[in-house]
Amino acid sequence: MRKKISILLVSVLFSLLTSSVSHSELSKVIRVVDGDTIVVDYLGKKEKVRLIGVDTPETVDPRRPVQAYGKEASDFSKKMLTGKKVRLAFDWNKRDKFGRVLAYINLPSDQVKDAPGCMVKSGNEFDFNASLISCGYGHAYTRFPFAKMEEHRELERKARTSKRGLWASEESSGKLSGPAGQKQETLVGIGFVASRDSNKFHRTTCQWAQKISSKNKVRFFTREEAVKAGYKPCGICKP
Ligand SMILES: [Zn+2]
Repeated sequence: MRKKISILLVSVLFSLLTSSVSHSELSKVIRVVDGDTIVVDYLGKKEKVRLIGVDTPETVDPRRPVQAYGKEASDFSKKMLTGKKVRLAFDWNKRDKFGRVLAYINLPSDQVKDAPGCMVKSGNEFDFNASLISCGYGHAYTRFPFAKMEEHRELERKARTSKRGLWASEESSGKLSGPAGQKQETLVGIGFVASRDSNKFHRTTCQWAQKISSKNKVRFFTREEAVKAGYKPCGICKP
């Protein structure tokens, strides 16, 4: 009996995960909060929308310094989305616990002039969530399940291999180089970070450090504190 119920639950969950609901009506983007969060006029209501399956470096949390590449990601979303009419598509969960709408943003291509070649197009629309990852403005956010998880992972792999955007200086051993170099300089000296999911600690400028979600992030002022807490230095940024 219990087995039957769990099979039923799994199949229901699977069908929910594989069918994303899209709306044909267009919603105007009122403003871009940061790379992965926007405010739209959705069905006559002003709604904050968190883009599904992508995480861009933070820029606006006043408690944290601007993360490297956060501004570039935010500027890209501002340039591509502000004032545009977009189509929202939903996954299995329409809102998060903060009440924000969770959506894929489809941007009709006729509203975009000179789109970079890294953007992901499906029919006559750009898949903006996928484009952020593909262009190296953010990474696949896989903490919660979503229908396009594998696609987003694959796009991230390609962006890293092609060293696009935030992956540009991944192999430069924490040196201040690449397009994020200027931003990184302002971060030097504010300590070290580690993830609750790993045993490594990093310089804040390390590309791997920037991948740690804010929920998993642990901060240390000194190297000694990190070592004492049981973390080992990252082989890439050599803290
Ligand atoms: Zn590192």
